Amino acid sequence: MRSDYRTTTSIRVGDTVAILSGKDAGKRGTVERLVNPGRVVVTGVNISKKHQKPRQKMNAGSQTPTVDKGGILEIASPLDLAKVALVCAKCDRPVRIKTKVAADGTKSRQCSRCATSIAHKEVTK
Ligand SMILES: [Zn+2]
Repeated sequence: MRSDYRTTTSIRVGDTVAILSGKDAGKRGTVERLVNPGRVVVTGVNISKKHQKPRQKMNAGSQTPTVDKGGILEIASPLDLAKVALVCAKCDRPVRIKTKVAADGTKSRQCSRCATSIAHKEVTK
């Protein structure tokens, strides 16, 4: 059985990550979505082009269809978690993450270089 990404990475939606390898190496972006197994979608990174046909869609409660124009869409594709690293705001570089366990058992993420704790961002949907 494949392990769940939640148990294997400290990266979460809303984090700023740097891309370490591949065609987008050096870029930074915000984590949009985590994809199992072990992949992540980062805004503006690993863009692939999708050729979308124009199509019409009927909406409930409306008589006029909305027209999806189609064309060449640029979509961020998932990339492997091994290619990204969390960016520490203080060090301003990709860092490894330590997990700090407090006396009461709660865990927090820490930059392994400067030991600043890196909070999870609140993501509103
Ligand atoms: Zn740091």
